[in-house]
Amino acid sequence: MSEERHREDGFETRAIHEGQGYQGETGAVIPPVYLTSTFETGNPDGFDYTRSGNPNFRNLESTLASLEGGKHATVFASGVSAITAIVSTLKSGDVVLAEENIYGCTYRLFEQVFEKFGVSVEYLDFTEPANYEAITREKPVLVWIESPTNPLLKIIDIGAIAEVGHKAGGAVVVDNTFASSYLQRPLELGADLSLLSTTKYSSGHSDCLGGAVCTNDDAWQEKMVFAQKALGLQPSPFDSWLVSRGVKTEALRMERHCTNALALAEWLERESGAVWVRYPFLESHPQHALARKQMAGGSGIVSAEMGLSLEATQQFLKEMRLFTQAESLGGIESLSCHPASMTHASVPRETREAVGITDSLVRFSAGIETAEDLIADVRQALERVR
Ligand SMILES: *Cc1c(COP(=O)(O)O)cnc(C)c1O
Repeated sequence: MSEERHREDGFETRAIHEGQGYQGETGAVIPPVYLTSTFETGNPDGFDYTRSGNPNFRNLESTLASLEGGKHATVFASGVSAITAIVSTLKSGDVVLAEENIYGCTYRLFEQVFEKFGVSVEYLDFTEPANYEAITREKPVLVWIESPTNPLLKIIDIGAIAEVGHKAGGAVVVDNTFASSYLQRPLELGADLSLLSTTKYSSGHSDCLGGAVCTNDDAWQEKMVFAQKALGLQPSPFDSWLVSRGVKTEALRMERHCTNALALAEWLERESGAVWVRYPFLESHPQHALARKQMAGGSGIVSAEMGLSLEATQQFLKEMRLFTQAESLGGIESLSCHPASMTHASVPRETREAVGITDSLVRFSAGIETAEDLIADVRQALERVR
């Protein structure tokens, strides 16, 4: 089938039929896992050593590029490896402007690793258009955003940031992990790089780690391929195969994540006594209109200020039967997270409370179970602590 034909196919069709190469001559409908560290010199597909390429990487890369609406994708061992690949292209003296509510591990990499190499990062609230002016003034090499953000689910205007960033000569990176390729496509909105922790919605089954960087820019692609092999950031062939299997059902899963999360968010807002509930597709969300414009659904994460004491919040998390308290998100099973003691534990209390990460903030990752069961579970846990 020609590539042109593929581009016209729908997301679900491309998720299943793109990236199905290297099946060999066995008639295998699903390409096998290529568990090999090296390849015979002179092979027709130009493989040499798995650190710089493997059939399972290439298959996944063509699927992810297609799903993100881009020309290229490079896969990595994790989302953090993908972030490392991008930041490794910077040099001493370079300035990065980042959204202040970015993922904690990205912040840690900037502050504890790349700062030592002379890369400086400034953090701004990019829901505030007045702050775009800093991009024009400081001419950063990279503008780093995430939308929705973690855990407050702020929505950043990707198209507007891309326009200002490009005028200032910088590249715009969007961490698309919370939205997923199915619900939001940063490259189509003007971003230069779209980054995924494929550990989350792409793979969707909480059974492997992976990352990817997607782009339409040949020069950036070359840098990502270089980082994959030169920094040793490549995934394992088996994990790549698992992500390839996961993305085939991404559309179906995301539809259910969205309906479950919306039902949970509406119930929390209406009946739980929560102080506030945040979900991009709730009308009460501060950037609700923008969320509707750049996303095809609200995704699977709901955050809520439960209005409980620290002890009661921790008890509430323990009382839930279906929401397992754990790091991560985006899997078929529901998970809960207590940002104040987990993802944001290292942030000083005043700093985190100032941005809304209080002791009673709970992040729910709605899985694809029966919606009524999820709501009933939250209800019974709340009844036990109230
Ligand atoms: C999980 C996550 C990452 C890091 O991905 P890993 O696969 O855990 O390394 C990066 N960004 C966001 C938004 C994430 O949720």
